[in-house]
Amino acid sequence: MSDHDFISGSKPIPLERGEGSFLYSTDGTEYLDAGASYACTPLGHSNPAVVDAVQEQVGKLTFVDSSFPVQSREDAYAALVASTHDGLDSAWFCNSGTEANEAALKFARSATGNSKIIAATRSFHGRTMGSLAATWKDKYKKPFEPLAGDVEFVPYGDGEELADAVDEETAAVILEPIQGEGGINVPPAGYLERAREATEEAGAALVFDEVQTGMGRTGQMWACQNAGVTPDILTTAKGLGNGLPVGAVAVRDWIADGAASHNATFSGGPVVTAAVHATISTLVEEEWPAHAASMGDYLTTELEATLGDEVREVRGEGLLIGIELKRGANRAARDLAINHQVLALPAGRTVLRLLPPLVIDQEEADQLIDALGAVIASDDS
Ligand SMILES: *Cc1c(COP(=O)(O)O)cnc(C)c1O
Repeated sequence: MSDHDFISGSKPIPLERGEGSFLYSTDGTEYLDAGASYACTPLGHSNPAVVDAVQEQVGKLTFVDSSFPVQSREDAYAALVASTHDGLDSAWFCNSGTEANEAALKFARSATGNSKIIAATRSFHGRTMGSLAATWKDKYKKPFEPLAGDVEFVPYGDGEELADAVDEETAAVILEPIQGEGGINVPPAGYLERAREATEEAGAALVFDEVQTGMGRTGQMWACQNAGVTPDILTTAKGLGNGLPVGAVAVRDWIADGAASHNATFSGGPVVTAAVHATISTLVEEEWPAHAASMGDYLTTELEATLGDEVREVRGEGLLIGIELKRGANRAARDLAINHQVLALPAGRTVLRLLPPLVIDQEEADQLIDALGAVIASDDS
């Protein structure tokens, strides 16, 4: 197997079953899923509450379009809005992260009457044309240009440069509260507050892309709650339905009132919203965000102690952890999977990303730490 095969998606591990923090291949081998399949299963694989809700709903009413009220959508809507800061009182469901950001940009443009978008270096917002235009890496963009432009990039983490770029022609500033794909980049204290001030002053919409940071991973339901900053638009997807394809956009009144019409056929379908309701209710009732905070502290402290000088940095918040290696992250991820049955994700060339399910326990965390210790200490990783 070449490195290319591994990172391009053809990982040679045929999987057939998942339970909690583990995945099982067809030959019965157990893998610790330290990437939660790209943060999509915060409650672990095949969480019983979500499986039951989905099975019941699929047998009762699989689909009806969003012009009819259905209980599962109303329950999911109420749970989502209740989980956000006060002020984000309306929401719209879609099917993915990129679609949530696409909607956010349309809402911001129509509510402000402006078109200029400000995004950050090293951002990732998705691969459809609008979200892609606000994504940093040329690798994703170049072959598809020209994109739905009018996007200016400013250095992530620099509040003053951001504030300088925002003016009365700005429709939106779109930021990840902590960057995921870009390498688990945590901005300095005060950055999100500065973005809030600058957008408020200019009448622009502040969009927080919480597709990866949301759903309890950083210790609160939404990462912006750690900073105490409420955006005008919050987008999410990945873990929202614990593995079912669903995204959402939560907005303040001025966006809801000012935005032009936007919709999608599958918006808020009964089955995916049954999953959303079960996922959010379980996260909240069983207090998994607090568990994520304490397991995140444990993992980060132990990883620093174990890996010490072998790595450049361990950083992140809660169970969104990046390990900046002195070597390539793809090789380390491959070695972890093949030799230690631990699945982790690269985030850029040298950062190994850990996004375990929030339900990871201490024994599983120790297994992860031991495997990382072995791989990172060895010469061939
Ligand atoms: C994954 C991701 C997206 C794109 O989500 P898709 O569901 O793959 O379209 C957007 N923003 C962030 C921060 C992400 O991590």
